[in-house]
Amino acid sequence: MDLGLRDRVVVVTGASSGVGLATAHMLLAEGAHVAGCARDTERLEKVLTEARQVSGSRSRVHAVGGDVTDAASMQSFVASTVAELGAVDAVVCNAGRSLMASIDDTTDEQIRDEFELKLFSVLNIVRAAKPHLARSDVGAVVAVNAILARQPEPRLAITSAARAALLNLTTTLSHTLAADDIRINSVLLGLIDTGQWTRRFHEAGTDQSYAAWSGDLAAERGVDLGRLGTADEVAWPIVSLLSPLSGYTTGACLDVGGGVARYV
Ligand code: NDP
Repeated sequence: MDLGLRDRVVVVTGASSGVGLATAHMLLAEGAHVAGCARDTERLEKVLTEARQVSGSRSRVHAVGGDVTDAASMQSFVASTVAELGAVDAVVCNAGRSLMASIDDTTDEQIRDEFELKLFSVLNIVRAAKPHLARSDVGAVVAVNAILARQPEPRLAITSAARAALLNLTTTLSHTLAADDIRINSVLLGLIDTGQWTRRFHEAGTDQSYAAWSGDLAAERGVDLGRLGTADEVAWPIVSLLSPLSGYTTGACLDVGGGVARYV
């Protein structure tokens, strides 16, 4: 099936690892050109170059060091993408992390940082890309969010609240961006097997294997499918929402949580 992304230029924030990297791989396989950003430029350049080689396509990649919380950095990321690849047709707002802490264990500064990351990681890149998305005939944005936005967890108290704020903001953006024919949708993730969880596994200092530890984690969190998701299993919903075949879908949320959500 042709997803209509060939020769389109897609910006992916946090493209050097996990969900962002898996999405870059899938986009390159579809013949899209990928511009990625992350703070560690060396790692980003290495993995995106490898991704382009693996895809075997004639697609191009553009790797730019940048911090999604810095508006000027996102403006220059978009400007260099347009200079290098000629357009921005779609954006994946993916970069970020979560703060595993209860309310009592979180400082005011951490709370501010968490809200700043969740909101500005989308606002900065969307503001920078908007004029270019408006010029495209397939302008689309996907915001990577979490099931926590609708199902808060005490051990991720502030992250849950910040994700709810982002979901609210994304809904407003879907109404305002529609004036320029730009769609924006969210994927709400459950527990996905990426660097975030391998880092926590190492921090836990357990004798268990990673497979046993992550299996127990899925059981403890009530994941119906009994395992963590893979980054590829998130990349597909992201890419399909970016595709012009999803042209009548905006302001929507797609759960990718293996059945961990308990809401209707
Ligand atoms: P990874 O840690 O594997 O990848 C995160 C990516 O984002 C890296 O490329 C990292 O590169 C980049 N990044 C982080 N902070 C910034 C920043 N301030 N500016 C620019 N780039 C940044 O994480 P995942 O793939 O698991 O996460 C992807 C998204 O999904 C995140 O927003 C995460 O919060 C969300 N999510 C993940 C879940 C999971 O279970 N994995 C669950 C729910 C949501 P660098 O460090 O070099 O900047």
